[in-house]
Amino acid sequence: MNKTIHQPVREIPVLGAYDVVVCGGGPAGCAAAIAAARQGLQALLVEGQGQLGGMGTSGLVSHWLGGRANNCRDWVVGGIFKELSLAGVERGVALLPQPEPDGGVCPHGWKPRGQLVAGVPFDAFGMAALLDDVVAAAGAEVLFCTRAVDVVKDGDTITHVILHNKSGFQAAAAKAVIDATGDADVAALSGCPTLLGREEDRLMTPVTLQMHMDHVDAAALKAYVNARSQNGYRWLDEIQALMKQGEWPFSYDRLISVQLTEEDTFMVNTSRLTGFDGTDGASISRAMVQGRRESLQLLAILRKHFVGFEHARIKAIAPLLGVRETRRIVGDFQLTVADVLAGRDFADTIGYSAYGWDLPDPKRPSHQPMHEKKVKTPALTPIPYRVLLPRGCANLICPGRAVHVERDVLGPLRVMAPCMAMGEAAGVAAAQVVRSPAAFAGVDFAALRAELRRRGAVVSQQDINNQDSVTS
Ligand SMILES: Cc1cc2nc3c(=O)[nH]c(=O)nc-3n(C[C@H](O)[C@H](O)[C@H](O)COP(=O)(O)OP(=O)(O)OC[C@H]3O[C@@H](n4cnc5c(N)ncnc54)[C@H](O)[C@@H]3O)c2cc1C
Repeated sequence: MNKTIHQPVREIPVLGAYDVVVCGGGPAGCAAAIAAARQGLQALLVEGQGQLGGMGTSGLVSHWLGGRANNCRDWVVGGIFKELSLAGVERGVALLPQPEPDGGVCPHGWKPRGQLVAGVPFDAFGMAALLDDVVAAAGAEVLFCTRAVDVVKDGDTITHVILHNKSGFQAAAAKAVIDATGDADVAALSGCPTLLGREEDRLMTPVTLQMHMDHVDAAALKAYVNARSQNGYRWLDEIQALMKQGEWPFSYDRLISVQLTEEDTFMVNTSRLTGFDGTDGASISRAMVQGRRESLQLLAILRKHFVGFEHARIKAIAPLLGVRETRRIVGDFQLTVADVLAGRDFADTIGYSAYGWDLPDPKRPSHQPMHEKKVKTPALTPIPYRVLLPRGCANLICPGRAVHVERDVLGPLRVMAPCMAMGEAAGVAAAQVVRSPAAFAGVDFAALRAELRRRGAVVSQQDINNQDSVTS
């Protein structure tokens, strides 16, 4: 068998000419498309799955983190994230949890307060439908079940994104391109340099096939946890006892669960599968099978041994693998751990994260290297616009989890609220790129931040301090 084959050049129909093509409809891509369309740009949003929301909906990671301060009052990410959160609450598909009145643990994080309690849990299907409406109202066109598979370049500028779906190959002409695939797919296809995983061995943090369980007895669970610990209960003792009895077959040893919008329904973010690569099709396929198998095993163990889970059922297993880390772009500016620890802020800050270090060890899936090294948890991590800029492609920008940061800084920045802040900044920046015309690197930072602030985004610490109410 030949190692490669040569495919003859083919004629590809041009779907249309757009100001901006956004590849990937996750948190970053949705915010980018909404922001770009609201700037008056003709925007096409291309999503590989059949719904918007990315990991939050198709991946069943239905809990936006990093956008509200631990006091559950201040918005650390404003703009489109805050708008979607409030619209979700209004529709009854999202919640803004508050600490429990009795001071006990909150089932949205199993602590009385903290960064998980300050998350925004939502109903995955309800949120996907809300995103359909908000994106359509903004005026962006959407293509579902469509992947960006190649680009055509003229020098350092992308002229067309090549798409593939049921219609075959199509080209979308674009003045600006936003790569919100999470994996920097478009950057890689464009020949931009990227990094994969850990510097020393390219291993990546574990993947998870996420599931939702219903028919959980939340009251019993809460009473059980309140009687034991108020410090982020993760059932370590119970799991270690089961391991000794040979009844816990997994290499991870924490039960992580978050109550969603209904009291008896929980997101179970427990499996941590090691040795997989989210940029490798065969590896993703193996992880899906292992993830489904372990979900069923876990359900049986929880029903047999865990208070509150006796009658639990699997409501849904994600159709999209939960990949925490793949490629990171390489640009001219990298945000480092030292920057974050020094509390540095930047002239081009376009948002913040309120979430801390969280990048499980690639080989020891329940271990967090930054916690083991006792690195101080930052209250706020700034997002400089320049971390979104890949080297080598003038009209391409990469908001979301593929940004140019020192690997551990992915912890605070990969969660979904900051990804939305980045997406919104990319969409607003695209207006300057299209109208000037300029490169994304040539965008006027001050004008970008002013426009973001006008639209309700948080772009300075002063913006956070100026807020005074949970729904303001
Ligand atoms: C198991 C797990 C648990 C997590 N827990 C939380 C949590 O509780 N809260 C939180 O806020 N964050 C959490 N995260 C992190 C967070 O979900 C992601 O880092 C975040 O969703 C990244 O946003 P994004 O927009 O960059 O990418 P994604 O959410 O991954 O969205 C990318 C989108 O692009 C699409 N796509 C990919 N490639 C292509 C292509 N070539 N063409 C077209 N479309 C494409 C995908 O289908 C997807 O919809 C978790 C992640 C995992 C894996």
